[in-house]
Amino acid sequence: MTTPPPRPPSTRALRNRIILAVAAAAVLAVALIAGMISARPAPAPATTAPAATPTSTPTPTPGARPQPTRTPGAEAVDTFDKNARSIDDPASIWVVVNKQRPLNPLDYVPADLVDVPVDHTWAPVLRKEASDAVVAMFTAAAQEAGLELASNSAYRSYSSQVEVYTDDVEHNGQAAADLSTARPGYSEHQTGLTMDIGPSSGNCSLNTCLADTPEGQWLAANGWRFGFILRYPADKTEITGYDFEPRHYRYVGVELSTRMHETGVRTLEEFFGLPAAPTY
Ligand SMILES: [Zn+2]
Repeated sequence: MTTPPPRPPSTRALRNRIILAVAAAAVLAVALIAGMISARPAPAPATTAPAATPTSTPTPTPGARPQPTRTPGAEAVDTFDKNARSIDDPASIWVVVNKQRPLNPLDYVPADLVDVPVDHTWAPVLRKEASDAVVAMFTAAAQEAGLELASNSAYRSYSSQVEVYTDDVEHNGQAAADLSTARPGYSEHQTGLTMDIGPSSGNCSLNTCLADTPEGQWLAANGWRFGFILRYPADKTEITGYDFEPRHYRYVGVELSTRMHETGVRTLEEFFGLPAAPTY
């Protein structure tokens, strides 16, 4: 009896196998996509004027200690919304002001300025939320590190910026002035969210050597905990348009300052994907 030679796998069997594999892959893909969709946060409701009432938005407690080790993969379900607040509205704590982004209107005046009850050379005024954060930060510097901080400049109106800028140009020339002092209508100090901070002793207060003092180092390491960023880092002049200013702290709220701290993005321009602003 002759046995037939072993048949090669029929093309039909081969085709069935391929169909099965493709079907399995398709089911897997559908399951994955379904999982991703259900895990995706609900779309933000309206984007209308989120910054209209910035102070009423609940924010994390200023000065809250850094969170313990974050859960691995936390980034995968990240819900930080870069559009949560306006970066154009001068009343928004996220407003980005630089040489390409003047305040609008140029002579903007914040509505909720208060005296800031801290040590100072010139009596400081800031918006209420920023003032509270400064007080919390100065208190923590004293309690945690025994450091005495002082304000050297805070809110400056359009007209006072005219004086400051004109004076700088007269003494140093316009090119040098533009690297250290904003033109009127282009200053973060006019937002009421910014303070130049130094040691109460006055040591290095207005110079880059502040960065080497215990006060300058404490501020650089801890400002974010209270909602502040060092706005003009040493190596970012081409982006910010300003020389290193270890004294100049801008309040952006704890949510954003923490995010920038965690991601290591140090300028608002880079964080929000805005063009560099080295010149006017
Ligand atoms: Zn400043």
